[in-house]
This record gives sequence, structure tokens and C-alpha cells, in this order.
Amino acid sequence: MAKIIAITNQKGGVGKTTTSVNLGASLASLGKKVLLVDIDPQGNTTSGIGINKADAVYCIYDVLINDVHPKDAMCDTAIENLKIIPATIQLAGAEIELVPTISREVRLKKSLQLVKHMFDYILIDCPPSLGILTVNSLTAADSVIIPIQCEYYALEGLSQLLNTVRLVQKHLNTTLQIEGVLLTMFDARTNLGMQVIEEVKKYFQQKVYQTIIPRNVRLSEAPSHGQSIITYDPKSKGAEVYMELAKEVIAL
Ligand code: ADP
Ligand code: MG
Repeated sequence: MAKIIAITNQKGGVGKTTTSVNLGASLASLGKKVLLVDIDPQGNTTSGIGINKADAVYCIYDVLINDVHPKDAMCDTAIENLKIIPATIQLAGAEIELVPTISREVRLKKSLQLVKHMFDYILIDCPPSLGILTVNSLTAADSVIIPIQCEYYALEGLSQLLNTVRLVQKHLNTTLQIEGVLLTMFDARTNLGMQVIEEVKKYFQQKVYQTIIPRNVRLSEAPSHGQSIITYDPKSKGAEVYMELAKEVIAL
């Protein structure tokens, strides 16, 4: 049975999508069966792993709103063992369309239960908000990975996120856990980066991954080639650190 992990932080640009794609690809290259679920209407995970949105017959919208079986919405990727349920801009309407529907918070959970047996890991790339799509993700998940960018204001907004996690734990998913906190875009040349690491470690203690993701140009180039770092530049620092992270995730 898959472990379902939501990659979440309502801040944009902290490395959620980069982590979804590259952790997913790394786990798959270590022989794990992985499903990426793109639940961000921007669909960056979808294009970043090389899926042409126009070619997708179904997307996560159809799973959530039109009761399409998640298996029918899955696409293969260029990486063996790695599949994706894509997102298209159609999903932007889902926040509103879900509001009046029955069991709106548990739709993703119910769908993923149908395919949980097919995978070792299901990674959900969340949108930059704490709306109903993120609540669906937290309700479906066994645990969350919180990427935190090593920048000024890194901790800002985290109390809101943790409060949402607690609300979901109380009302919708009592067993939801924090899988780990991931420090991203670290720049060793600045003191600021070190300060953020200390602050985050003080706050989250042993929940912080040993692996810290540095700023790496190859990581930012790979999506425009529709590739994960594992195929785009397997010898890069970016590939090395995401492989390390995958090993940490497996070891837990
Ligand atoms: P989110 O999904 O949280 O909005 P992204 O993963 O899309 O964040 O990252 C935001 C931007 O930063 C993207 O352009 C991405 O390519 C870039 N980026 C993410 N992680 C790194 C990194 N470690 N080094 C360099 N660029 C990065
Ligand atoms: Mg994103």
C-alpha cells in the first residue's frame, strides 16, 4: 500500500513542484512505484515531467468533479515506475465547483484509495493556498512534507499552515503526520541561509531532513525541458541531493 505524501506550503515559489517532480523521479529510479498527483491548477508538475496538457484525456479535475476513475486519468512519464495524474487549467474552477458538493473534502482521499495498492508512494503537489484543494490533499495524505525556502520571512505563514494541518487532523484525518520539513534553495554564500536553517531546526527539531537542497541552476532549467533532474543532468548537485532525500524518505 502506498504512503501518500502531500507536498505543501501555501507560499508560492518555495520548491513544492521542484520537490514533487524530483523526489518522485528519484524514488522511481530507486525502484519504487510512484504516482505524482498534480493538484495545482498551474499544472507545473504536469509540464515539468514532460506531459503536454493538451494531450491529457483526463486530469485531476475529472477525478474530483466527474467521478473519473483515477486509473483512467493516469499518464505514463519518460521514467519507468513513475506515473502522473495531470492538472490542467480546468482545475482552477474546482475550488468553486466543489463548494456545494457532498463530501467535498474527502473526494481525493476516496479516489486515491482505489489506486493506493498500485504504488509505493503517491506524492501530491499542492497549490499555493490553503483552500479546498489543499484540504483535499491533507485529508487524503498519510503525511506532509513542508518545503521551506532558506530566505527572509521563511517562517512567515507557517503557523497558518500548521493550524490547517491541526484542523484537518481534528476533523477529517486524525492520523495525518508531518513527514518532514525540507530546507530548499540554500545559498551557502549568505549568512541568512544559515540563520534560517538554525531557526527552522529550533522549531521543527528532528522533523527537519538532513538533506538540504541548495540553489542549483540545473534544477531550475530542467522543467523547461520537461524533465526531472534525474534524466536532465544526473551528475548535477541537484540530482545528487534529491537522490539523498529519496533515500531519507525511504529510510523513515
Ligand atoms: P512552488 O511549487 O512552491 O511554487 P517551485 O518548485 O515551482 O515552487 O520553485 C519556484 C522556482 O524556483 C522555480 O522556477 C524553480 O525552478 C526554482 N527552484 C526551485 N528549487 C530550486 C533550487 N533548489 N535551485 C534553483 N532553483 C530552484
Ligand atoms: Mg508549484
